[in-house]
Amino acid sequence: MQIPAHIATLGTETAFEVLARAQALAARGRSVINLGIGQPDFPTAPHIVEAACRALVDGHHGYTPANGIPALREAIVADLDRRLGVAVDPAQVVVVPGGKVTLAFAAQIFGGPGAEILIPDPGYPIYRSLVELSGASAVGYPLHAPGGAGFSADEVLARITPRTRLLIVNSPANPTGGVVPAAELERLVAGLERHPQVFVLTDEIYARLVFDTEHTSLLRAASLRARLIVLDGLSKTHAMTGWRLGWGIWPGALAELATRLAINLFSCVNTAAQHAAVAALTGPQEHVERMVASFAGRRDAIVAALAGLPGIRCARPGGAFYAFPDVSGTGFTARTLQDRWLEELGVATIAGTSFGARGEGHVRFSYASSLADIHEAMRRLGGWLHDHVA
Ligand code: PLP
Repeated sequence: MQIPAHIATLGTETAFEVLARAQALAARGRSVINLGIGQPDFPTAPHIVEAACRALVDGHHGYTPANGIPALREAIVADLDRRLGVAVDPAQVVVVPGGKVTLAFAAQIFGGPGAEILIPDPGYPIYRSLVELSGASAVGYPLHAPGGAGFSADEVLARITPRTRLLIVNSPANPTGGVVPAAELERLVAGLERHPQVFVLTDEIYARLVFDTEHTSLLRAASLRARLIVLDGLSKTHAMTGWRLGWGIWPGALAELATRLAINLFSCVNTAAQHAAVAALTGPQEHVERMVASFAGRRDAIVAALAGLPGIRCARPGGAFYAFPDVSGTGFTARTLQDRWLEELGVATIAGTSFGARGEGHVRFSYASSLADIHEAMRRLGGWLHDHVA
């Protein structure tokens, strides 16, 4: 059987591979602490679960409009108006099964052979894999460690060529937890005025998970609106990774194109999940505030613990739920540490190289785990590092 090269070489997300290995170890009776996968350890709030149950009992069992039920698209724009003070037409919203589907659509629309798409390196690995699946080239721009600028607008702008069709921006960022300062985003927006052919996809899936500053949304940049796609969803903010509910906000005629892609690929998102999403966006928000406060405390705990380990330096991430320490002082590659810590200590982490070549020398820790698990993982790592690092 001949498999086309772009399929045969399709990339992946190491977090799922590590999750499977961690689960296999746990099934054999090992004590495993999973700081690998990026998902909140909180259950979905009861009022959201009840809304899904009610939708099923009330008979919402059929297809919905492909771009999502009107009540959900209206709830999404009302939430943007409330949080950011920006007006978006519900017709620009396309509801999809999870945040990454908006990326898949954008890669199809802007990619293809000959196109270049700018992605952060290190960055969420699905950026590169979906861009390359479309036949386009993924061009990495450097993402600096948290505590630094996130990215430098000049370094991003310097990589734009006549072939560049799309720029992907992610703040707060996976895997660094870095938050791009508002001034740097403003410099980027100003510089993009010299490149009117370049569209921008802003991945704001961690927008509400910020600890020290306000999140700056590119949606507020009026000069970008006609060429801005916003990726968002409920996975992280509302602890709903398994519900598969995300959306894109598309400019101009692209919403209709994205809707046609939805019709071709999945018809519509699970109806009960859409009703749950209305409850998530319009109902009480205390569960989000509690989760963010809890992540802020865990951030402080893991950063303090990592700073005390030999060979490790950790800056203080401002958002999401990832720490991305520099582990180069251990003398081991990131991949070796990932594999040995999982096999020898039962601590799952993700090598920085899973997020791009510039991730070497770093390991990603997801701290969306209990404080007790974080402390136990750090205790195991501490013992190992004392034995293995000179
Ligand atoms: N964007 C980033 C930066 C992510 O880290 C993730 C998930 O890890 C996603 C998008 C996709 O989220 P979802 O699970 O809703 O597809």
